Amino acid sequence: MVNPAIQNLYQSQKVFFHSGKTREIGFRIDALKKLQETIFAHEKDICAAVFADLHKEETDAYATEISGIYDEIKNAVSNIRDWAAREKVPTPGFLMPSKSYIYKEPFGVTLIIAPWNYPFQLLMMPLVGAIAAGNTAILKPSEWSSHTAAVIERIIHTAFPREYICVAQGGVEETRSLLELPVDYIFFTGSVPVGKEVMAAAARNLTPLTLELGGKSPAIVHESANLHTASKRISFGKFMNAGQTCIAPDYVLVHETVKDAFIAALIKSIQKFYGEDASAHPRYCRIISDRHFQRLMSLLDFSKMVYGGKTSAADRYIEPTILSPADWKDKIMQEEIFGPILPVIPYSSLDDIIDKINKRPKPLALYMFVNDKNIRKKIIRETSFGGGAVNNTIMHIVSHHLPFGGVGSSGLGCYHGKYSFDTFSHTKSILRSYNLTDAVDIAAPRGGKFMKFILKLAR
Ligand code: NAD
Repeated sequence: MVNPAIQNLYQSQKVFFHSGKTREIGFRIDALKKLQETIFAHEKDICAAVFADLHKEETDAYATEISGIYDEIKNAVSNIRDWAAREKVPTPGFLMPSKSYIYKEPFGVTLIIAPWNYPFQLLMMPLVGAIAAGNTAILKPSEWSSHTAAVIERIIHTAFPREYICVAQGGVEETRSLLELPVDYIFFTGSVPVGKEVMAAAARNLTPLTLELGGKSPAIVHESANLHTASKRISFGKFMNAGQTCIAPDYVLVHETVKDAFIAALIKSIQKFYGEDASAHPRYCRIISDRHFQRLMSLLDFSKMVYGGKTSAADRYIEPTILSPADWKDKIMQEEIFGPILPVIPYSSLDDIIDKINKRPKPLALYMFVNDKNIRKKIIRETSFGGGAVNNTIMHIVSHHLPFGGVGSSGLGCYHGKYSFDTFSHTKSILRSYNLTDAVDIAAPRGGKFMKFILKLAR
């Protein structure tokens, strides 16, 4: 049973959408600019809230939560007229004399549900696409990042009337209730198990959706890799946000001949980034909640620890930690880690690890550190994953030219840049015919001799 306040909110958005206001490109551009101005005015509040939720230092909060939204808004404002323009496409000869067009149509009322790990960015980024494409939006931030959720509500309700864009707070029950609404599009970012629930709920109303999910993203360190680069970029991608990043390298597969040198380089990189005591480093984050901290503690296998392992429940602190040699059968290899613990599995056969990756759910990201062209091509060709990088980690997410999304159990659909606009638009095909004689007249049931003749010609 949908809560009556939510039901009213939904109805008011439906009415607003049908007023036609959001179809005007000028209205969308103004809304994007308004969003940018309001975020700008609240930058300090956003950074303070992200610090309260995740102990994330201000520069990092700005870099990972805010600056990407500005880039996305700027790109949308510059290109929206092109993206939204009717597209003329060729018409096959047998449909002549007609013309063919593709219209970009907003879906209507959209529901955007976000997780807690980049609590501001992961709600605002899809919102930019929803606005650019001419939709209204109901935003559901995560209940675990409650400080950021409160600032989001303030920003959105300062910038927009609720019948256009609004924030609905709450946890599991409230989200389930929102999912009962027959909205026109759902954009969900979160875990695989909840993604399944969201898809089942969407199926009940046949609502189209995007699922941005997670999973275990491997990093392969080939024997041809530059170990300095590999260690530096793996520690950057893994320990940023204390490992609570959907595309963080979840585990490392390192060739056995370079394993020891790689681990030594990795330890050096961690110490260079966070010092000997990461708990005292201003740029090292904390685990979001006691519950998430306890889950991570249950994955720590002290017998395999080669670095780190210091923890503090009171502070929800887990030191950057390396487990080696890890094994595919280890408990930590059975679920997405989503924390600062890095298992390192040595391998001897590339074919064998490709086979093992392919037998598991398709990862959201895959990283390969390799300086051999044929090996690079082989890994890209023979494994399926959402997206990734060669000789890098996580940075593929920051380019609005690259679609971001998963495949198989790591997600459905993609966004960023023009892909966000496309995600939030229905592509409506129109064949425009005239009153002259055309294919319909030929195909109309009357004798059929001429039709047979035409089909013969078309063969
Ligand atoms: P989550 O799935 O627990 O929660 C996500 C959202 O769903 C929250 O707003 C929450 O309130 C709601 N929710 C939780 N349980 C629900 C239920 N049973 N029914 C309906 N709604 C429910 O995810 P999380 O713990 O907030 O985030 C971590 C996960 O998100 C990780 O798996 C991570 O990989 C993934 N993630 C993916 C991306 C991506 O872009 N692909 C980005 C960030 C995080």
